[in-house]
Amino acid sequence: MSRGTGEAVCATTASPRGDERAPLAQVIYIAEDVLERAGLAGRAWTVPDGHIDDPDVQAANRALSAFASEVYLAAGGRTPTMWDGSPVPEGFLPVRVVASEYLSVEHGPGVRASAQPVTNSITVRHQTNDLTVLHEVAHLLHGTCESGDAHDDAFALTVRDLYAHYLSVKAAERFWTLVGLRAGR
Ligand SMILES: [Zn+2]
Repeated sequence: MSRGTGEAVCATTASPRGDERAPLAQVIYIAEDVLERAGLAGRAWTVPDGHIDDPDVQAANRALSAFASEVYLAAGGRTPTMWDGSPVPEGFLPVRVVASEYLSVEHGPGVRASAQPVTNSITVRHQTNDLTVLHEVAHLLHGTCESGDAHDDAFALTVRDLYAHYLSVKAAERFWTLVGLRAGR
């Protein structure tokens, strides 16, 4: 995972001295790896490698954005409005998801995705899954992106609840078996 581009929101702060425990972010990433290997990460999504003007790319982005927007609104995300407060056109999606392998260039090969709270958008790899999108929607709900400090107890609880609702109870329980020991300090 990675830092985003909005420095004020995304600046990473080192853990306090004397805290010998693994950062909660690392525990969350490990738990998510466990879920993926156990086949508990939900649907696999593929966004074709092509130009944004390619209809297949647009359709894949639209399907992912619709899913992320549904989750975001159901979890209490803010309903978008036009700049003057008037309603947005029908069908407008409050969360936009795009795919880019540039993530791996900028943030390293282990990066799955990043959230941009300023633009309410999510960037994923061309191959992604429900789990990854849900993790990033949780960042948008908390107004954070991929910095270590963004993965606090409240964030972990949001992720657990989204996994319970959109993946499975089993996935949420497996996640919390690992993360719950570290969260709730
Ligand atoms: Zn994260």
